[in-house]
Amino acid sequence: MIDSHSHIYAPEFDDDRDEMMARARAAGVSHIVLPNENLATVERLKAVRDRYPDYVSMALGLHPEEVRENWQEILDEMKLQLNQDHWVAIGEIGVDLYWDKTYREQQLEALDTQLRWCVERELPFIIHCREALDEILWVMDNFGTPLPQGVFHCFTGTVTDVEQVRRRGDFYFGVNGVVTFKKSTVHELLPIIGLDRILLETDAPYLAPVPHRGQRNESAWVAHVAQCVAQWLQTDLDVVAQVTTASATKLFHLSQQQTK
Ligand SMILES: [Zn+2]
Repeated sequence: MIDSHSHIYAPEFDDDRDEMMARARAAGVSHIVLPNENLATVERLKAVRDRYPDYVSMALGLHPEEVRENWQEILDEMKLQLNQDHWVAIGEIGVDLYWDKTYREQQLEALDTQLRWCVERELPFIIHCREALDEILWVMDNFGTPLPQGVFHCFTGTVTDVEQVRRRGDFYFGVNGVVTFKKSTVHELLPIIGLDRILLETDAPYLAPVPHRGQRNESAWVAHVAQCVAQWLQTDLDVVAQVTTASATKLFHLSQQQTK
């Protein structure tokens, strides 16, 4: 399995990262994609990549919750990083209006700019969307040139939302521990999305799946997400692992050796 979205570079893992990575390998996780948050986290991503070079890949981007007045300066500086290392995606990028709508306009502009990086570099996007699907689709509809490929990470919308996204492109949908929560309706989306457009993720350290709900999440627990997806789709865990690994390998252009 591939954990396609994990913040395991976060300080929460500084005391036991080696042990946590060993548990991920033992649980059958073959590769982990690290989405970036802001300028400061870039160095953390690189440090983790240097320690586990074949096991993790990095994405570069400014998280919507990190967008402020100075978003343009930040992106100018971040863009220099694009030339200086190997990135498998632009992310996580998007719009988040859940806590704060102050920088709504700036979030939309920052998303547009970073989607253009995807086109320039032929990289997929990793979208973070919270209470903002209309805004993200508006940016996409006004993009002007064909959109890049990408994934809507932590997708928790409705069936109509899936259809709305699909109208803009043949995108992937990230499914994480939320699918294991009792009150969640994400399982209803699974057959609509289809196994071949699902990416498994943890979003560690957040959103730990049942039976670990409320604890610090970690990549090994993507196995609980896979098991839950298999149950809802009435298929084997092996099939879920195989199909989602193939999708993540293709989307992020990971090499076959990296994901064995
Ligand atoms: Zn994230």
